[in-house]
Amino acid sequence: MTATVWRFRGIVVAPDGRPPTHRTSTPSNTMKRAKRKAHGMNWIRQEKRLAIYMRDDMSCLYCGRTLEDGVVLTLDHLVPYVMGGDNRATNLVTACRSCNSKRQAMRLNRWIEHLAIELNACADETHRRIRRHRRRKLGKYLAQAKQTRQNRKE
Ligand SMILES: [Zn+2]
Repeated sequence: MTATVWRFRGIVVAPDGRPPTHRTSTPSNTMKRAKRKAHGMNWIRQEKRLAIYMRDDMSCLYCGRTLEDGVVLTLDHLVPYVMGGDNRATNLVTACRSCNSKRQAMRLNRWIEHLAIELNACADETHRRIRRHRRRKLGKYLAQAKQTRQNRKE
């Protein structure tokens, strides 16, 4: 089975480092899938995913690398899904695939401390960056994302 990839301006954006696990799509499966959320890319609308990438300046909020640095963008839950974190934009940040897979379900504070050691980055600065981006209202980015997706279809 090949993982679904999604292209943004010719750059491949992968499904959070996890291949999709669902193949059938009867209406009842779609409902179940919506509840399960955490698999593949289908747990979030593509428009919302792109809007969050845009809100975060197409960059990983953990290590600061961007699409131009060649990273694959994914979404990460600040409060991990397995710890009850929801799929609201305020709980989601853009993370490169490498950071996302290294963090797994580590608590945010611990992960940022870990990053500070690994990247010799300032933990406070990382916290500030996350706070700054997640405070941005998603509305205008949703509009931009919608426009981008429409342009692509034309
Ligand atoms: Zn990163």
